[in-house]
Amino acid sequence: MTPLAADTPICVVGAGILGASAALHLVRAGARNVTLIDAGDPLSGTTPAGAGFVAAFAADTNRRFHRGCVPLEIYGIEFYRSLHEAGHDLDFAANGNLVLALTEESLDRLRAGIMEHPDRLPGTRVLDPAQIQEMTSGAVDADKIAGGIFMAEGIQLTTGKAVVAILDDLAGAGVSVRHNTRVTGIRTQDGAVTGVETADGAIPAQAVVIACGAWSNEVLATVGWRLPLVPVVATRFVTRDVGLSPTMPTVQCPDLGLWIRELDGAYSWGVGTAYRRASLLQDDGVDPSAIGRPHSPSLIEMQRGSQPDVAEVFPALNGEEPELITQGMPCYSADGNLYVGPVPSCRGVWLIGGDNESGVTHGPGMGRLVAELMMGDEPLTDPAPFRLDRTTPQDFPDEEAAVRAMAEDRIATAMG
Ligand SMILES: Cc1cc2nc3c(=O)[nH]c(=O)nc-3n(C[C@H](O)[C@H](O)[C@H](O)COP(=O)(O)OP(=O)(O)OC[C@H]3O[C@@H](n4cnc5c(N)ncnc54)[C@H](O)[C@@H]3O)c2cc1C
Repeated sequence: MTPLAADTPICVVGAGILGASAALHLVRAGARNVTLIDAGDPLSGTTPAGAGFVAAFAADTNRRFHRGCVPLEIYGIEFYRSLHEAGHDLDFAANGNLVLALTEESLDRLRAGIMEHPDRLPGTRVLDPAQIQEMTSGAVDADKIAGGIFMAEGIQLTTGKAVVAILDDLAGAGVSVRHNTRVTGIRTQDGAVTGVETADGAIPAQAVVIACGAWSNEVLATVGWRLPLVPVVATRFVTRDVGLSPTMPTVQCPDLGLWIRELDGAYSWGVGTAYRRASLLQDDGVDPSAIGRPHSPSLIEMQRGSQPDVAEVFPALNGEEPELITQGMPCYSADGNLYVGPVPSCRGVWLIGGDNESGVTHGPGMGRLVAELMMGDEPLTDPAPFRLDRTTPQDFPDEEAAVRAMAEDRIATAMG
């Protein structure tokens, strides 16, 4: 593919963590004519709902990510650290990520998946219950767990603040950012892109990056392609300040489907058992095609129902009402992996997506990878596993076909 010249007009569509990262890395790779467009207000998409866990999640065979994601994850950690060190306020903390096991059997599974992984990072180690209780300053009841694996390189941050930091850097670099501008189609001529259509008129472009999160297929359809992506509604509760230590690592517990962390002394948490495919929640008031953050009362009740089980392990959560509830729509792909690459049906159109609820972790690396491919730079990881043409629209003509492919997956319960 011919590398783009520095003055090529490029539109990045979608200003969540993926699109903002792509725009920033295009500029860093030398692009001088980048426009970032978003349908909503700043921070109105899925990203600010994110819990802010970033770690080498692909270095674990219990998860679905392929090994090619590990360099993206390591880069994501470096990227956020560099924003923090440059003075941006991200609530950045390098506390590590802890994966808890409630039973010996689960601990064996985690050991096999993480400790024996060829890409295990150097700081990864097994902890016993007493060490975990100490590391979490007593937040975890040692009597309720079998142990866990600590991934020391993991970090945490406030996701909305990370986007604000990137938007600040983009403004400093002279990038035009247009919010409240919905892209309704992609203009083409002779099989190549010539611009994007918006309600306010067309914007010329010789290259376009689609980074529309849960709504990517709508824009992609205008150039005749479709990906097997399934938007899922996920919920995050934040309690009042219950005096948690700011040094507590982010914690995941596959036995409970739980992720939980400290945020200003409070718990910020959610459970995968209370996730549902967005298209199944229409009777609950969720419109999957509405761009923005959904509201699903039934999932909120489901998460409340799981709280007593979580409080068995994290006693301070017992009886705590959420002071803040945020919901968002991460987008799962049929094979559980990310998409970064050119759209096969139209020259000059690229896509990054299929975040699989890991866009905060992988977004900076995905943005860098697409920028490197577009500008002809050496890619930070082999792009082949991320290609869009690993599936065709005929393989997955509708959402049901994608859902069928996920029947054995750990996200299967959310699919209904
Ligand atoms: C509760 C919860 C917890 C999570 N926790 C984590 C975590 O700890 N770690 C992690 O890595 N990930 C986490 N995630 C996942 C993470 O938040 C997502 O993967 C990530 O935010 C996706 O980013 P995005 O840029 O693709 O999507 P978005 O942030 O939704 O950005 C897409 C943007 O595209 C715009 N758009 C859509 N259509 C159009 C159009 N036609 N024209 C113009 N603009 C358009 C939208 O307005 C939106 O701003 C979590 C998600 C949730 C909901």
